Amino acid sequence: MDYENILNQASLHLKNFNIKNPRLDSELLLSKALNISREDLLLNLKKKISFNKHKKFNILLKKRERRMPVAYILGYKDFWKSKFVINNSVLIPRPDTELIVEESLKCLPKKKSKIILDIGTGSGCIIISILKERPKLTAVGLDISKNAIKIAKINAKLQHLDNRIEFINSDVDKHRGRKYDLIISNPPYIKKIKISRLEEDVRNFEPKLALDGGFSGYLSVEKVIKKSVDLLKKNGKLVLEIGHGQTYYISHLLTKYGFYINKISKDLSKKERCIISTKY
Ligand code: GLN
Repeated sequence: MDYENILNQASLHLKNFNIKNPRLDSELLLSKALNISREDLLLNLKKKISFNKHKKFNILLKKRERRMPVAYILGYKDFWKSKFVINNSVLIPRPDTELIVEESLKCLPKKKSKIILDIGTGSGCIIISILKERPKLTAVGLDISKNAIKIAKINAKLQHLDNRIEFINSDVDKHRGRKYDLIISNPPYIKKIKISRLEEDVRNFEPKLALDGGFSGYLSVEKVIKKSVDLLKKNGKLVLEIGHGQTYYISHLLTKYGFYINKISKDLSKKERCIISTKY
């Protein structure tokens, strides 16, 4: 069988399992099995597949059939300008989260050396993307998941930033010492009861620890805001990712804890997704 036949068969198969982008997923999985880029695959559709590679591809296809997200099967995801290694101990980096990077960069002049903190760093994709754009910055990334910290450290090393970022396996409540110029966080903010209504790919594979915001959805957000009061320098900034419909309550929390709201920024689907505030 040639690559084209395999792709046609696999797309039809995934379509029958109600997978949203069956052709794209099949192409990505076949490139992985063949260990070539998707571009090379598409340029060689008439090539015949070997028995072993076909077997390998079928194993990957079975995983997707069971709704494992493609990014976990591939073991990486593109975010901002880099590729990040991931596994199921970290959230798959989302395009919407690039908003935190964009907004943080606006608060960080190119030539200034500043220190920033990322609370709940996960794969490290946000903090690493920011540091790559600003050579004078240094950073600390915290996560309560030991396995997430392992992944974040791998990513920092792959991006040659391990000398500028320190990753610590700790709860933010236990973190003390220095003060930061800027704090960023994409905390878990989904209401507990809504977790079971998320898409199967997310619900069954992504870490609950990174999604579950407790009964109200605001449990971790409030903790991050409260802790940022101690951890930020005067006039330091807090850049937070928030969920749909959470602007009003989170703005209230920020004001209550002594922050001035600079801006509320919308994501690609025009939903309010990021709040930028200043401690005064
Ligand atoms: N945006 C993610 C989702 O909807 C949630 C991320 C989070 O809770 N921080 O799946």
